[in-house]
Amino acid sequence: GPAPESATEALEWLAERGGIAGHYINGQWGPLRDDFASTNPATGEKLAGVTKGTADEVANAVAAARKAQPKWAKDGAARARVLYAIARLMQKNSRLLAVMETLDNGKPIRESRDIDVPLAIRHFYHHAGFAQLMDEEMPNAEALGVCGQIIPWNFPLLMLAWKIAPALAMGNTVVLKPAEYTSLSAMVFCEICTAAGVPPGVINIVTGDGETGAALVDADVDKIAFTGSTAVGRIIREQTAGSGKALSLELGGKSPYIVFDDADIDSAVEGLVDAIWFNQGQVCCAGSRLLIQEGIADRFYAKLRARMDGLRIGDPMDKCMDMGAIADVVQLEQIKAIVAENTSGEMYQCAAPEGCFYPPTLITGMSPADTLMQEEIFGPVLVACTFRTPSEAVEIANNTRYGLAASVWTENVNLALDIAPKLVSGIVWVNATNLMDAAAGFGGVRESGFGREGGWEGLQGYTKPKGKATKVTAPTA
Ligand code: NAD
Repeated sequence: GPAPESATEALEWLAERGGIAGHYINGQWGPLRDDFASTNPATGEKLAGVTKGTADEVANAVAAARKAQPKWAKDGAARARVLYAIARLMQKNSRLLAVMETLDNGKPIRESRDIDVPLAIRHFYHHAGFAQLMDEEMPNAEALGVCGQIIPWNFPLLMLAWKIAPALAMGNTVVLKPAEYTSLSAMVFCEICTAAGVPPGVINIVTGDGETGAALVDADVDKIAFTGSTAVGRIIREQTAGSGKALSLELGGKSPYIVFDDADIDSAVEGLVDAIWFNQGQVCCAGSRLLIQEGIADRFYAKLRARMDGLRIGDPMDKCMDMGAIADVVQLEQIKAIVAENTSGEMYQCAAPEGCFYPPTLITGMSPADTLMQEEIFGPVLVACTFRTPSEAVEIANNTRYGLAASVWTENVNLALDIAPKLVSGIVWVNATNLMDAAAGFGGVRESGFGREGGWEGLQGYTKPKGKATKVTAPTA
């Protein structure tokens, strides 16, 4: 049932700190101003005020990061110690982190507790190991310097970890801007940094909105790492063009979920629950387009509808809930509008509570070119069409401007191995979905962006190679 005592704990934590989320620069809090509100989307209540960072405040944070960077880059073992300490303290504070995330974002507590927070911690442990190995294993790699990092609201703490852990491991210092409506778990993280002995200036957080983000892109940074919408990614690419700043973009997606007629249907139905209803569908790699082989379509839809009926939607703090609130009213209105204006097929929708909630939705009978099959909805809406042959499945799957992830369901291993390389996609999961690991590079192709986070590729994205040639003189006899 509900766990109100832990919500109280998080609200008290905020109240003790003046109820304002603001900058953490050079190891110090401030300035802290109540420029706009961060609300609990499930209740509409204000949780805290948020400071909108100015260009000057961004510049101060970048200057602190610049000053701290040379020393931080020197000693891999020291970096490892700090990253391990962060990971351990996150574990110790995992309940507070999970509750804060759920209150601020609306995602079910079961997810923040069992997925977001543990994966974020794992990211710091993983990269702590690489900090120590860097000198020996990457002798020609150098840190980039100061990295500006901008993240979205769907996985506030996890995206923060994906950005900060590899950058720090490779000897960079960072200025990170959380999304405007989800800055609270970052506050808890800053206190953890102080307690973990992060040297002042190594990690700086500047809160604010898109204008603050634009100021960070213009600031004296060596790299911008951005996760967010394709539209803003395009602006940032133009803004940094010709500047010499490195850039990585993790953008939108419309990932296909392909089910062949020989698939294990029950597993494929269960996988879909995770692919499209995890985090209310607000997942960049959500399996939001179901492509189903003609012969099993009706049977599959019937099973899926029955499974949808069993999903529980409501108070995100209730441990029994499968789905919580949509992160923000603006986002809710966008989902409602795109569905209302573009639905041509047959819609099946479950019930959802009043307020900032959207029900699990299945729209069948779509054709591949329909707007809802092409555009990212970023909500719990699954659109479906049928295909006849494997080559038709590949053709439909690749028929979008995105290329982040794809899921293939079949019991025929030869078919899976034949299909996977033909899908234009950064990631292909076979009989699985949403598998993410700190050791595996994650990222897209086409308008889903470029660059990888996690894995070996992710580390390389935070270094520059430097060739070291030595003149060799032949020994004289
Ligand atoms: P958004 O692009 O509106 O905002 C993302 C971040 O950018 C926020 O912190 C925002 O304040 C900031 N921002 C906005 N305008 C800016 C500007 N002009 N310059 C610099 N920063 C600016 O995206 P969103 O609505 O917060 O997030 C949803 C989108 O993110 C979806 O499209 C989703 O697919 C994508 N996403 C992608 C991944 C991935 O790994 N590929 C992960 C999560 C989310």
